[in-house]
Amino acid sequence: MIDSPKHEGMRYRLVEQLRQKGIQDESTLAAIGVVPRHLFLDSGFLDHAYEDKAFPIAADQTISQPYTVAFQTELLQCHAGHKVLEIGTGSGYQTAVLCHMGIDVYSIERQQTLFKKTSLFLPKLGFHAKKLIFGDGYKGFPSAAPFDGIIVTAGAPEVPKALLTQLTIGGRLVIPVGTDEQIMTRFIRTGVKSFDKQTFGEFRFVPLLSDRASSES
Ligand code: SAH
Repeated sequence: MIDSPKHEGMRYRLVEQLRQKGIQDESTLAAIGVVPRHLFLDSGFLDHAYEDKAFPIAADQTISQPYTVAFQTELLQCHAGHKVLEIGTGSGYQTAVLCHMGIDVYSIERQQTLFKKTSLFLPKLGFHAKKLIFGDGYKGFPSAAPFDGIIVTAGAPEVPKALLTQLTIGGRLVIPVGTDEQIMTRFIRTGVKSFDKQTFGEFRFVPLLSDRASSES
């Protein structure tokens, strides 16, 4: 499996669709124009890789819809040199988008199968996260905190407090909050104990699971 001019053309069209849907951040769009999404999907879905849809990956999880990836990345307002924590590495597609933007990425995944697969796969494609972590994202990653941005790529029934405390002052937490459906929410840390909260409409994610990392597939 390789990249090709055909796939490049499909990415170009995907980027145009995302612009029409309202995505404006050029560095986000540039990354989506470069990261070979078709290599992150199981081969059965190859023909659909550049449709603006979510797809199943291993271990009953999904690779987020490109629009959702772009929307969350835009809300993070991060650029080269910033430090970002991602909760839910999954296929590594969102991780790769952030790496391409020159961001220092820390990403946590609780499913061991996915963690192992993605840890081997991302460097092969030339995407080097600062650290991929096997563990429970509810706790964040205190040893590398504070972060300029934290992005949660699974639906959180409630906002994990640990994540709020691991933001820089001015840092952003982008998190879909809710059980069946989620409201995309951004918290901006305005002081040691103060946060601004903004909401951005409904999305649908697989659930953020708490308490333990899992070795089940
Ligand atoms: N960013 C991913 C989206 C994967 S779906 C991508 O681009 O493909 C959400 C992921 O969050 C799943 O892989 C799931 O296993 C993981 N997840 C769920 N709860 C978690 C938790 N508490 N800590 C870390 N990862 C979690």
